[in-house]
Amino acid sequence: MAERIGILGGTFDPVHVGHLVAAVEARHDLALDRVLLVVANEPWQKTGERVLTPAEDRYAVVAAAVEGVPGLEASRIEIDRGGPSYTVDTIDEVVGRHGDAEIFLVVGADVAGQLASWIRVDELPGLVTLVVVHRGGVEPGPDPVGWRVRRLRIPALEISSSDLRRRLAEGRPVDFLVPEPAIRCITRRGLYAVGR
Ligand code: ATP
Ligand code: MG
Repeated sequence: MAERIGILGGTFDPVHVGHLVAAVEARHDLALDRVLLVVANEPWQKTGERVLTPAEDRYAVVAAAVEGVPGLEASRIEIDRGGPSYTVDTIDEVVGRHGDAEIFLVVGADVAGQLASWIRVDELPGLVTLVVVHRGGVEPGPDPVGWRVRRLRIPALEISSSDLRRRLAEGRPVDFLVPEPAIRCITRRGLYAVGR
C-alpha cells in the first residue's frame, strides 16, 4: 500500500497544542502513516513583520514536542533547502523522495483562506489533498476552488504562537499550552526571554 503522508507546515514560533492536536487528529482521521511538522526556514509572508526566532531553535522545540509521539515527525526539509520557504518546493521534494506516497497538505482555516497568495500555488492541487482544520476563533470560509478538500473538526483551541510569545515575554506560564519537553527546550535555549 502506498504511504500516506501528512504535511503540516508552519513557523512554529513556538509550537503549541493547536498544531499538535491538528497533526494527531489528521493522522487519525485520514489514516496517515505519519505527519511531518515542516518548520519554515524563511516564512516569506511573515519576515519583516518582526524578528523571528532562528529556524534551528524553532526546529529544536518542535522536535522536543513530538519526541516519542507515534507518527509525528519534525521535518528539517525547508531548513536544509535554505532560503524562502515555498510549500510547492517542499511538496516537490516529498514527491521526489516518496514517489508513490499519497500526500495530504494540512492547513488551519486561517491559512486555507490565503492560499491564493502562495507562490506557484496552481501546481499544488494536482499533487495533494488539502486538509482544512477548524481553528478556534476563525470563521470557516468556503472550500478553496480547484482543490480536493477534506475538512477536519478538532476541539476549538483558541491558541496561537503570537499569543504564546506575548505570554512568554510577560513571564506568564505556558504550561499545558506547550508540551513540557518543548518548554524545557525553550528554557534551555533561553528563547522568548525565558530563563534570562
Ligand atoms: P502565529 O500566531 O505566529 O501566526 P500560529 O499559531 O498561527 O502562529 P503557525 O506556525 O502560523 O502558528 O501555523 C502553522 C499551521 O498550524 C497553520 O496552518 C495554522 O493555521 C495551523 N494552526 C495554528 N494554530 C492552530 C490552532 N489553534 N488550531 C488549528 N490550526 C492551527
Ligand atoms: Mg499563523
